Amino acid sequence: MYYRAREIALNNNLNYHIAAFIRRGKSDIIKSNTLKTNPNFFQQYHDNMHGYHMHAEMNVLRYSKPGDDIHVMRFKKNGLFTMAKPCGYCMKYMRKFEIRRCYYTDWNGAWNMIKIKKERN
Ligand SMILES: [Zn+2]
Repeated sequence: MYYRAREIALNNNLNYHIAAFIRRGKSDIIKSNTLKTNPNFFQQYHDNMHGYHMHAEMNVLRYSKPGDDIHVMRFKKNGLFTMAKPCGYCMKYMRKFEIRRCYYTDWNGAWNMIKIKKERN
């Protein structure tokens, strides 16, 4: 799993190499960040531009079910782990998609966990 995620992340042809996965027994879902856009994932950038490029978390969320856990890994070009804490947009979308927990790698490649609070309506 971890090797496949790293391979997918490092081969995404982008500056940032991030992979997010959801466990599904024999057919785990692994997605990388991508320049592909999706209208469900709107972001506003600092310069007030906006876009729909998907972060790895968003890319994998499209296949998620309520109650799923998401794991996020970020790699440097040399394949070593680095900080993969989800951004504010990803946190928001994980709440929206009712993800239970998000695990992410830190600077040392250790797993950290955030419980995703349910969105109040
Ligand atoms: Zn993000």
